[in-house]
Amino acid sequence: MASYPEVGLFIGGKWVSPPGASRFTTINPTDGTTVGSFVSGTPKDVDAAVTAAFTAYPAWKATPPPVRGEILLKVSQVLKQRKEQIARVVTQEMGKVIAEGRGDVQEAIDFVEYMAGEGRRLFGETVPSELRNKFCLTVRQPKGVVACITPWNFPTAIPNWKIAAALICGNTVVFKPASNTSMCATEVVTAYEAAGLPPGVLNLVTGPGGILGNALIDDPRVRAVSFTGGVDTGRTVNVRGAQDLKAVHLELGGKNPMIVMDDANLPLALEGLLFGAFGTAGQRCTATSRLILHEKVYDQFLGMLDRRVAGLRLGDPLDPKTDVGPVASADQQKKILEYIAIGRKEAKLRTGGNKLTGGAYDKGFFIEPTVFETPHGTRISKEEIFGPVLSVIKVPSYEEAVRVANDVEYGLSSSIYTSDVNRAFRAVEDLECGITYVNAPTIGAEVQLPFGGTKHTGTGGREAGSSAIEEFTEIKTVFVDFSNHLQKAQIDVGE
Ligand code: NAP
Repeated sequence: MASYPEVGLFIGGKWVSPPGASRFTTINPTDGTTVGSFVSGTPKDVDAAVTAAFTAYPAWKATPPPVRGEILLKVSQVLKQRKEQIARVVTQEMGKVIAEGRGDVQEAIDFVEYMAGEGRRLFGETVPSELRNKFCLTVRQPKGVVACITPWNFPTAIPNWKIAAALICGNTVVFKPASNTSMCATEVVTAYEAAGLPPGVLNLVTGPGGILGNALIDDPRVRAVSFTGGVDTGRTVNVRGAQDLKAVHLELGGKNPMIVMDDANLPLALEGLLFGAFGTAGQRCTATSRLILHEKVYDQFLGMLDRRVAGLRLGDPLDPKTDVGPVASADQQKKILEYIAIGRKEAKLRTGGNKLTGGAYDKGFFIEPTVFETPHGTRISKEEIFGPVLSVIKVPSYEEAVRVANDVEYGLSSSIYTSDVNRAFRAVEDLECGITYVNAPTIGAEVQLPFGGTKHTGTGGREAGSSAIEEFTEIKTVFVDFSNHLQKAQIDVGE
């Protein structure tokens, strides 16, 4: 008998393990122990999950949005009650420190609660007609069955961002989480189950992304795909979805700059940088991966940074004194170390650069917080590394800082530290990205505001806030003519 949970797929309101199904396990990146065992789903399982979602759709669509909202409110209450337990699962399966594990779950709670309220809004518009005795308005309708495909770095927050928004709008969902955080996904789904969501409205399929992703995208009953992950996978999803003219929403990578000007409050900028660059071991899509530093404060600020980086405590993420936990997986560790090797050749390593070995570290995936000094244009200064690796780029002016900030393929988050209010507002205009922070680091999303980016960070829409409603609804335009005779737009105007 295994000492860890053996989890099934959640289809049509039941946890099922198809006979003969193969399984995979997830592991704790701190010590390599097994967290759980999951069904390695197949296209047949995807078919069953889509069938369940398709069957549940008419009744869920017909459920008044405020009633859907009541269920979401219960979900948020269940998540609140279970917050500490789920946070520990997040930390054990993904490796972020426990304070951030709690933050991940809190973000989920906040968003589900926020979306519950949307059940009493889902606003349309009323618009004047060019004709007499005619009323024009718009209403929102769900898209149908939607697929939500999510990454591992916010393993409870991001799934809830998608699922709660999709459900409040009246869609039904097939959820495919990142394989290595399948236990976190299970915790998410059990909260919806406990809140009394009708069978089939939310379904979970676990297993290989390529196979399940393709099956979901190819199924004509799936009308929209909401995807968060890497840019290469996102491109594949988008191209495949285009074959069936599916609505595909993409939230992809980032290479987020923090500009520190010569008039910045340096101690404040330093606190922000440490949190932005090394929080979640740099594995946030909004992580501060580039410090664009004004030459006048370059040496002083880097001296301050050296001392603080040296003091960061690496270790067990469940220990509240730990600042930086392991990276999420062996694959992540390998990829980050490859980038560090590239960095050693093309830039100057200032601090860190090693994987930690010996004793307890041997079983986990630990990498030292790493700082490179580099000219703009090197691979480490332009490509997403997604780990605790910071590139520092020296600039002589605000204009050059903005040029460097914008000269990457991504456009997710950005930040500027300055005490010049005019320059701060200029930066809000000049930085080509979806999010700009002034005198705060590149991380720190709040659920009531839109979230997303420009260029290769996505396809242009936004998640969270009321923008999430745009992603998961179709607008229907309605004309009500109460004149009792045929009125012709563009022809009878003025009569
Ligand atoms: P990933 O490798 O692209 O995987 C994301 C999801 O896609 C996983 O569920 C994965 O399943 C699935 N998948 C893999 N191949 C697929 C395919 N061919 N078709 C459909 N789905 C497929 O990304 P990740 O490593 O999990 O996440 C890190 C990336 O996410 C980073 O680039 C980060 O910047 C980005 N991210 C962006 C945001 C944002 O809001 N902009 C937020 C968080 C993260 P398996 O796990 O089974 O492979």
